[in-house]
Amino acid sequence: MDLVDLRSEEGLQLHAHLSTIAPPTSEAPDDFFEWSANGISSELYSSSRTWEVLRPRSDKKDWADLVWFKVSVLKHAFTMWVANLNRLPTRVRLASCGLQVPLTCCLCSTLEENCDHLLRTCDYSIIVWKLVLARLKPHHQMFQSWIRQSNASAPAVFRKLAAQAIVFQLWKQRNNILHNSEVRNTISAKKT
Ligand SMILES: [Zn+2]
Repeated sequence: MDLVDLRSEEGLQLHAHLSTIAPPTSEAPDDFFEWSANGISSELYSSSRTWEVLRPRSDKKDWADLVWFKVSVLKHAFTMWVANLNRLPTRVRLASCGLQVPLTCCLCSTLEENCDHLLRTCDYSIIVWKLVLARLKPHHQMFQSWIRQSNASAPAVFRKLAAQAIVFQLWKQRNNILHNSEVRNTISAKKT
C-alpha cells in the first residue's frame, strides 16, 4: 500500500526525495541515528534543547523585569506572572469559562472580582497596599514607573519584592476566604 499522498505538494517532494536514496544492501555500512535540533546534531537526546526548539514564543512583555529578577521569591514571582497575564482564576474569569459562580469579589463582597479589581482597586487591597508600601511612597496612577524607580530608602529591588509579596498575599487571602472561610483584617494580612 502506498502511504504517501502523491496528490499533495509535500507528498510529491517526499516521493522525489525517496527516489534519490539507494535501497539498503548487505554491503552497505550499518545504519546510525542522531538527534538534530536547530542544526546541532548529537547522538544523545536533549529534552531541554528540543523544548527550546519546539516551545511557542512571543515578544518579551514590558513587565518581564518586574516579575523575573535574581532575588525574587519564586512563589511570589509565579503569582505575579500569572496576574500580569490576567490568568488568575478570578470569579469573572471562571464565569467567562462557563462556570456558574457568583461574580462578587471575595474580599469586599461588593464589586465584580476581576484581576485588576482584586489586586489593585478593591477597598481591601488598597488598604494593604497603603499599609505595606507607606515607607516606599507608592504612586498608584503610575505603578509601573514607580516600581522601576530607585532611591536610597527604597531601591527598585525592594519595591519589586514588596509588590510581589502583596499580590501573592492578596491572592492567598482571597483563596482563604473562598475555600477556608478564613477572614483576616488588613492589619493581620500584612503580617503573613
Ligand atoms: Zn473587592
